[in-house]
Amino acid sequence: MFCYQCEQTMGGKGCVSFGVCGKDPDTAALQDLLIHVLKGVSQFAARAAQKGAQDKEVGRFVVEGLFTTVTNVNFDPARIETIIRKGEKIIGKAKELAKKSGVDVEALKGPAQLKLASDRAGLLKQAREVSIEKSINANGPDVSGLQELIVYGLKGTAAYADHAAILGQEDNEVYKFFVETLDFLASNPKDIGQLLGMALKVGEFNLKVMGMLDAANTGRYGNPEPTKVRITPVAGKAILVSGHDLKDLHDLLEQTEGKGINIYTHGEMLPCHAYPELKKFKHLVGNYGGAWQDQRKEFDEFPGAILMTTNCIQKPKDSYKARIFTTGLVAWPGVMHIKTDADGSKDFRAVIDAALAAPGFGEDAPEKSITVGFGHAAVLGVAGAVIDAVKAGKIRHFFLIGGCDGAKPGRNYYTEFAEKVPKDCVILTLACGKYRFNKLEFGDIGGIPRLLDCGQCNDAYSAIKIAVALADAFKCGVNDLPLSMILSWYEQKAVCILLTLLHLGIRNIRLGPSLPAFISPAALNVLVEKFNIMPTKTAEEDLDAILKK
Ligand code: SF4
Repeated sequence: MFCYQCEQTMGGKGCVSFGVCGKDPDTAALQDLLIHVLKGVSQFAARAAQKGAQDKEVGRFVVEGLFTTVTNVNFDPARIETIIRKGEKIIGKAKELAKKSGVDVEALKGPAQLKLASDRAGLLKQAREVSIEKSINANGPDVSGLQELIVYGLKGTAAYADHAAILGQEDNEVYKFFVETLDFLASNPKDIGQLLGMALKVGEFNLKVMGMLDAANTGRYGNPEPTKVRITPVAGKAILVSGHDLKDLHDLLEQTEGKGINIYTHGEMLPCHAYPELKKFKHLVGNYGGAWQDQRKEFDEFPGAILMTTNCIQKPKDSYKARIFTTGLVAWPGVMHIKTDADGSKDFRAVIDAALAAPGFGEDAPEKSITVGFGHAAVLGVAGAVIDAVKAGKIRHFFLIGGCDGAKPGRNYYTEFAEKVPKDCVILTLACGKYRFNKLEFGDIGGIPRLLDCGQCNDAYSAIKIAVALADAFKCGVNDLPLSMILSWYEQKAVCILLTLLHLGIRNIRLGPSLPAFISPAALNVLVEKFNIMPTKTAEEDLDAILKK
């Protein structure tokens, strides 16, 4: 196997014998083959779409297929094989659509003509022919790295598109972009400038998709509002909900109402407490634990059932394997999966029964809380006060410390950075990297909290809206604001957000804890030249460099 799509990749180069994440070689190979199948689907679907013929099932399949291969989503080779085989049918559907639109479908070469082997061994052999390693050998690290940058950006955007689609927000233009980009990649493009241009285009579309998801979330559950969240347990039976999916949490809250079970959020579900239509449930009692990489210890200790709604699952310990459940695109061999019915509903009875069978928390722990819910509506609602504070010199600088958390020791940088930010500066956070410091006391500046949490990783959309509004208010560009972006990346959703920021022309981003292995030195030089993107150094060095400007 060869996989270098996430930050924890082995030795900063690539996982070759087994994934650091727990992905086995067969799963890795089948994921590569799935991406190849998606390229085949897209060769037909893109040409049909150019002639005005689209099929939502095809678009949705491409999005779900991409999301399935995101880090920490699906570790089950059997389920991936099922998706690949469904892909053969979808290729047929896209081919028919293209044929009816007048496309010469037999003229298309490459993934479009793939005939799948009938057994697993045959599929694995086919997967080896389309592996990333083969691409690196054939195209060199610069070209294959940039091709993968586009694939990884698409994977991240697909995650957001899938969440939006679950809430009924779909857009044919977005589906068209997915298939056109995969069709572009199916032609094995080698021009560095063209590849970089396409990567920035992924960033542009990701902004649109994050906007769709924001509209879907706020349209269904209301605008997040500043909300105190309890971070210590209360006595009683318990279910812990992890991942990113708001609808799963909402439906579980409905199905557990009046059953004497308390619901806790975990990881990236923390911002859910700020949505009016979710926080109205009295049994959504609090947040439990920290970021995803601490889950094996925390789930072990949690005395109830656990529901994984999207990515972030790690190999479950035997101690809680019988009371952890996956749903949506997440899968782990041997873990019970809650399926989606044809009408989009889910029956969480198995999760509820597991929670009732578990002991639950015996007593209330001393109460502690943090505040969340500073999305764009809440922050822009007090924009006047923020702008006045900047003009009066009370707020000197904003730091957006955003991105995903991970297990490497270098990530202490983000805690140290937040702790060292001077008292006259405000910190904006998003995604799970904030777990490194969000339980510290930061105080306020004239009533404006010094730590404002914008939400999940997809709520980078909120941070961008806030930055653009501030730039408008000060009649300058985002790059001229007293705002610095200190980003941590882990998986492919961070990649698409980074591409969005670069598409917007945002310069001077500090990125850590290490740079992506798939970006070759030559490609990095281009990014440095164009955007002055730089690796994080030490918290002191970076703070000094930013504030002395
Ligand atoms: S997703 Fe990350 S940790 Fe897992 S195999 Fe790929 S590079 Fe390695």
